[in-house]
Amino acid sequence: MSKDAFLPTTVMWFRRDLRLRDNPALVAAAKAGSGSVAGLFILDEQLLAKSGQARIGFMAEAISNLDASMSTKLNVLSGKPVETVVEFAREVGATKVFVTEEFTPYAIERDQKAAEALKKIGVELVQIDSPYVVKPGTIMNQAGLPYKVFGGFRRGWEPLSEGIKVLAAPKVEWVQLSTKKPVIAANSRIRPRYFGDCPESTPDSLPEASEVAAKKLIAEFAKKSHEYADHRNEPGVSGTSRLSPYLRFGLVHPRQILAEISQNDAGGRTFASEICWREFYADVLFTNPNSRYEALQPKMARLRIDSDATAIQRFQTWTQGQTGYPLVDAGMRQLLAEGWMHNRVRMVTASFLIKNLHIDWRWGAQWFMCNLIDGDIASNQHGWQWTAGTGTDAAPFHRIFNPTLQAERFDPDGEYIKRYVPELREVPAPDCLRPQGGTLLSALDYPPPIVDHGVERAEALARLAELKTEAES
Ligand SMILES: Cc1cc2nc3c(=O)[nH]c(=O)nc-3n(C[C@H](O)[C@H](O)[C@H](O)COP(=O)(O)OP(=O)(O)OC[C@H]3O[C@@H](n4cnc5c(N)ncnc54)[C@H](O)[C@@H]3O)c2cc1C
Repeated sequence: MSKDAFLPTTVMWFRRDLRLRDNPALVAAAKAGSGSVAGLFILDEQLLAKSGQARIGFMAEAISNLDASMSTKLNVLSGKPVETVVEFAREVGATKVFVTEEFTPYAIERDQKAAEALKKIGVELVQIDSPYVVKPGTIMNQAGLPYKVFGGFRRGWEPLSEGIKVLAAPKVEWVQLSTKKPVIAANSRIRPRYFGDCPESTPDSLPEASEVAAKKLIAEFAKKSHEYADHRNEPGVSGTSRLSPYLRFGLVHPRQILAEISQNDAGGRTFASEICWREFYADVLFTNPNSRYEALQPKMARLRIDSDATAIQRFQTWTQGQTGYPLVDAGMRQLLAEGWMHNRVRMVTASFLIKNLHIDWRWGAQWFMCNLIDGDIASNQHGWQWTAGTGTDAAPFHRIFNPTLQAERFDPDGEYIKRYVPELREVPAPDCLRPQGGTLLSALDYPPPIVDHGVERAEALARLAELKTEAES
């Protein structure tokens, strides 16, 4: 018998890395346990309570497919993560629990507590790798400080993202303690603070949540990535990768994507730069944990916002895609129907809420987090802050998207709008792109615009000017 045969089983605690391939933590777990690994996933009530049906539905399928790829030997448990992992490690008789390191404030605290509690029973929490090509907190400017703007971060990131290698799935003897698997369901009691419940229904169709499906998407996208720069802003065509939910749950690592997508053309290079935005925002959150809820630019926190009964009513109209602005409504309805929205339209809908309805960006961010399958605290909150002009980079507040001009530029034939706003299907472009496209629309069952863009744009700029006056006085 080899010396390795006496090594105890190790635990692989899966979280945002629901895959077997290119998973360095799993490779290390298999090595440490001489192939004998007990895989664990813990259903954390606190995280479930913040996720809507769409994200939970996608996650449930991802867990089920991971389980299937482990000969149905994944141990799926419900409970408080720290207590549950300690109890599980004790039962397995493990001396090491392996995880992919995580960097959100919630995960950092959870893992610190887990490491301490495990240590008390003689078990080590081994944190390896990250959900990113470059770990948050790695890239610094010349003064040794984290970058505040994307450009500098990207210049630091690019050399570190070149020539990366991906790992094969290790050979594992999976150890199963319990064959019972809890039913994974959304918590219908989710009650976001500002506006009532998250929708109760799951979207009609969710993308297939498996490593195999992610691989297929990458292969499909690789064939058209050279056109990415030309079409990524057009919501009516399938010009982007749609990989965000897979990255969110780690069904694929960004390394695997970059290894498959050629960066020898403008399309591939622009795509890599979008992957870098994801890494930048994770870095910003790691170095500014409060940026989840607080404006990164403190002065912007004083911008006058509306929160009265009219604002709440307008907010609800926005969530349901009934604003009377076709591109905004199409986006909000796509979110409800699919748990996903095109990036260009995320910017337009967010801008509309903040700068046309004068509502706190955090209301919108929370609605998105509730509904998006790819809902990711770093990308979402900072995507909102970018649009609000409160965050990183040169995204000045006075850049106010005009939803009609955006539709004319990026959806000129109304292909996207007609897909999600059936009331406008019979209306030819360009009328279908406009709030009240002349006499044609007046007969339709489509709501009139809730506000006038021109008037509200001026109002938004007046509110911005108040901040400047304050600063000068
Ligand atoms: C208000 C707002 C909220 C957002 N919320 C989220 C969110 O919760 N989760 C999320 O993953 N992305 C979010 N984004 C970023 C972006 O909209 C999505 O990542 C993108 O639409 C996903 O589609 P895709 O996979 O086809 O992207 P592609 O264009 O194919 O890009 C490839 C990958 O790069 C990353 N990426 C692309 N654009 C961005 C970006 N602007 N910021 C950060 N990462 C990016 C994503 O991981 C994406 O999957 C948000 C953007 C805005 C403006």
